[in-house]
Amino acid sequence: MTTFNDFGLHADINRALAAKDYTTPTPIQTQAIPPLMKGRDLCGIAQTGTGKTAGFSLPSIHHLLTYPHRPTPRGCRMLVLAPTRELAAQIAQSCRDYGRFTKLSVTTVFGGVPINKQIRDLSGGVDILVATPGRLLDLIDQRALRLDDVEIFVLDEADQMMDMGFIHSLRRVAKLLPSRRQNLFFSATMPKEIAHLAEQFLEDPVTVSVTPAATTVEKISQYSTFVEQKEKQALLHSVIASEDIDRALIFTRTKHGADRVVRHLAGANIKAMAIHGNKSQSQRTHALQAFRSGDIKLLVATDIAARGIDVSGVSHVINFEIPNVPEQYVHRIGRTARAGAEGKAISFIAPDERPYMRDIERVTRSKSEPMPLPENFNELVRNLPKPAQPPRDTGSQGRDPNRQRQDAHRQRDGGQPRGERGPRRDGAAAGEGAEGQRKRRFRPRNKSVGAHKGAVKRVG
Ligand code: AMP
Repeated sequence: MTTFNDFGLHADINRALAAKDYTTPTPIQTQAIPPLMKGRDLCGIAQTGTGKTAGFSLPSIHHLLTYPHRPTPRGCRMLVLAPTRELAAQIAQSCRDYGRFTKLSVTTVFGGVPINKQIRDLSGGVDILVATPGRLLDLIDQRALRLDDVEIFVLDEADQMMDMGFIHSLRRVAKLLPSRRQNLFFSATMPKEIAHLAEQFLEDPVTVSVTPAATTVEKISQYSTFVEQKEKQALLHSVIASEDIDRALIFTRTKHGADRVVRHLAGANIKAMAIHGNKSQSQRTHALQAFRSGDIKLLVATDIAARGIDVSGVSHVINFEIPNVPEQYVHRIGRTARAGAEGKAISFIAPDERPYMRDIERVTRSKSEPMPLPENFNELVRNLPKPAQPPRDTGSQGRDPNRQRQDAHRQRDGGQPRGERGPRRDGAAAGEGAEGQRKRRFRPRNKSVGAHKGAVKRVG
């Protein structure tokens, strides 16, 4: 069995790993770290929870320490792009943890917060910059940041970036990067258009896959109940009462749907919070912290807001509404059954959602078990408590003085993304289809399409 010592990582990194009590590398780490240490490009098919952040940051930190030099003013040596602020903050924190015994500087930039501090933070240059694409480009436009000295470029959650309409931003970023660099590309799913995007970024990459959809899904007990849309709230109350829930993530397709669920639960004195793109940054952080710490057991989320968030101990995923993109279902239920724990996914299927569920079962090659409505269901529906007025901590309107400015950034920086208006089945952003089909390359490369396929390694 491989241990972290086998990788030959810098002693300061091994110290940090020991301090974190990491003993055994995860499959993606075992597969990714050796080629990355040799400077290879990497295409990783993996979702959050697999240990991919350490998989890419440990060898990168090793590189930065092995070839030490000061970053150029307004430059960065390693650039990590993430689709949401939460994920960017999480990655930066991991880099700080793994680099805690080094002098490497780690900075995060994302929209929805004042830019001036970020400009100051970047002025002397930084070793590791973790950014969302919109704010990154704002900083470049303001000449507060340049990318011509980037040695390592990481694109995380590429499929999510595409869903959120970041393709144009990615094209711009790609043009600004130097041609000599190491590239790392991660995506939880690899439909054709993402594979094409990967080819545009990567040169002769090693491909590592740790989350084939079927395997992820197999570990989770899946149930589904046919129910009218307007009776879903009563079903939710019944499930919450009858299931042994440690932590449950409840997914809705829209932001307003998420707020409505929270208000209904509050009407029945059930504590829950919502996390979605209409929330201010502090509301989102607060809700996540409450969920992580166990203050609340129920977090209601839209797909995008929940992506990339790593919370252990999620016992249940409840699909209050069914996603119309099968991969989204895999992402959702992958939040449970982490690290071998038991996980349960329960889907509420309205008549018009049945085709979505059929697609999901086809793609995941799995079938969920029917969970009948409770015997007293009609009574539950009749007696459903009235929803509460928007509570302070979940309301999303007009309390935050920074709101307007934040909203302006949100579309670009992960707050109010396309996916929350219902992701498109083709995964492309509206208005980009034609351009996508022209199959433009970021950097013309003299290699055949799919050249990396020969290097595919399947693990996990
Ligand atoms: P990630 O998929 O990178 O978000 O990581 C998921 C979680 O696993 C994070 O909380 C990490 O701190 C943790 N983790 C990553 N690698 C290891 C490891 N080798 N041993 C134990 N925990 C790990």
